[in-house]
Amino acid sequence: MTDNRYDVIIIGTGAGGGTLAYHLAPSGKRILILERGDYVPREKANWDPQLVNVDGHYNAKESWLDKDGKDLHPHTNYYVGGNTKFYGAALFRLRKEDFGELRHHGGISPAWPISYDDLESYYTQAENLYQVHGNRGEDPTEPPANSPYPWPAVSHEPRIQQLSDDFARSGLRPFHVPVGVMLDEKNPRKSRCIRCNTCDGFACLVGAKSDAQVVCIDEAIKHPNVTLLTNSLVKRLETDSSGREVKSVIVERNGSLEAYSADLVIVSCGAINSAALLLRSANDKHPRGLANNSDVVGRHYMGHTNSVMMAISKCPNPTIFQKTLGVNDFYFGSKDFEYPMGHISFVGKLDAITLKAGAPAIAPNFTLDLMAKHSLDFWLTSEDLPNPNNRVTIDRDGKIVLSYTPNNLEAHERLQNKLKQAMKQTNCSMHGHECHQGLFGRNLYVGQRIPLAGVAHQNGTIRFGHDPKTSALDVNCKAHDLDNLYVVDGSFFPSSGAVNPALTIMANALRVGDHLMKRLGVSQVERTSQPVLAEV
Ligand SMILES: Cc1cc2nc3c(=O)[nH]c(=O)nc-3n(C[C@H](O)[C@H](O)[C@H](O)COP(=O)(O)OP(=O)(O)OC[C@H]3O[C@@H](n4cnc5c(N)ncnc54)[C@H](O)[C@@H]3O)c2cc1C
Ligand code: SF4
Repeated sequence: MTDNRYDVIIIGTGAGGGTLAYHLAPSGKRILILERGDYVPREKANWDPQLVNVDGHYNAKESWLDKDGKDLHPHTNYYVGGNTKFYGAALFRLRKEDFGELRHHGGISPAWPISYDDLESYYTQAENLYQVHGNRGEDPTEPPANSPYPWPAVSHEPRIQQLSDDFARSGLRPFHVPVGVMLDEKNPRKSRCIRCNTCDGFACLVGAKSDAQVVCIDEAIKHPNVTLLTNSLVKRLETDSSGREVKSVIVERNGSLEAYSADLVIVSCGAINSAALLLRSANDKHPRGLANNSDVVGRHYMGHTNSVMMAISKCPNPTIFQKTLGVNDFYFGSKDFEYPMGHISFVGKLDAITLKAGAPAIAPNFTLDLMAKHSLDFWLTSEDLPNPNNRVTIDRDGKIVLSYTPNNLEAHERLQNKLKQAMKQTNCSMHGHECHQGLFGRNLYVGQRIPLAGVAHQNGTIRFGHDPKTSALDVNCKAHDLDNLYVVDGSFFPSSGAVNPALTIMANALRVGDHLMKRLGVSQVERTSQPVLAEV
């Protein structure tokens, strides 16, 4: 049993857990990382749209339930690196205002217990670690930053540049989306990233996406004091008799149960699985679930209101890497709608195979192949608001139940209309205003009819705050009710803003990491290993 004792146990290797492991690794402390999944195999299937987008080859092979008891097949991934293996790597800071209270059409987006300034330096560190490519000063809602992006923005391909110019001419302020890909455009021969069309939603076959495995876990486990156990599913956390300390982490591994213990236990399973783990760990001292005296664990689930909008033009769109353009002019509202609407950017370029599974209303005379060749594939994000009844629970068999009713939908509809208007104002040099034949909304989650299954941006289920009555975690993301339990994945968000969440999770993991270093009595560390360089 002595061998199973560590200083720190981290459960989960995604944006939160992976980043924290990287940060703590040089401390010399004995660290155990437990990950339920394995490494994503390196195989041609990584970049196969049929297998990835249509067949869900890498999706978690489990089913949850929705609020009506119907099966829900979540679009989520259990691998080393978590969902960052498959993410689009659009790495945004939340806006400064997102940390305060904001009034939305659908209600209130509550304030965070920390301010943007508390996180600013950690955002910078996270951008450096994940090699974010971007241009400061273009995005009109961008919060103040004390340093430039470590890499210049990924350039627009000609069709996207043309759209950007059109948008700018019509008075919008389009910008380059900050992305974490190891692309060196000045030195293409040596660039690790080859700028391909299978990035967003796919694992990178050449290891050039800045994901939590490549950037963090691979570096962390170079330290002899760090152990990673894959295929190790944490089933339950057990406390001591006082209920104040997690005493044992119970893991299913190689078909049997094992127990591990540590001075500090960090949960980072993703917002849905972390809440489920705490709920499953109920005991007589924590009858509602671990760390759940407040009864907020599992509640306030948020996942963003997202949609893909395709604009079909007469002009072809031969873009390969499409996720370079963003528009935030409507993020906080507009003259005709005073409430926040959200964020417009792109998904990876859609192809006919992907479209086939979730074919939208077909434009006359367009085959799917032609549609894919001519479409601009926008990604729209609006904030959903924390509702205590949108929640994760577990049924009698321990199965996850995700109950969710969408809210703040007026904001999203307004955002869609803003995009339609903006597209009407573009003026193609060959076909004039008629070039964009129409905008078609469709579900992103091709091949899966239940939009709730799209849990990519899950957050909010174990919120942090000052008041133990209304939050489960304190400002350091330690459970109010326990002395050695922390949560560092997307669960801690009290509100979600309308930009992609991963950079905020990473930055917060670094912030919590500094707190943990102090708690472990580590004053300074020497970082012998460097994050992967863009050039090979
Ligand atoms: C297709 C796709 C595209 C996306 N694009 C973007 C984007 O462009 N920008 C952005 O900001 N975000 C994006 N996201 C979202 C982003 O990936 C997540 O916000 C982020 O990965 C969440 O980090 P996390 O640490 O909370 O959880 P995760 O990254 O999900 O990590 C959780 C880890 O815990 C493990 N785990 C779960 N339960 C257990 C258990 N019981 N025992 C042991 N291990 C466990 C999981 O296997 C996983 O490795 C995207 C997501 C998807 C799916
Ligand atoms: S090579 Fe570049 S564009 Fe292609 S998947 Fe990898 S990181 Fe993404």
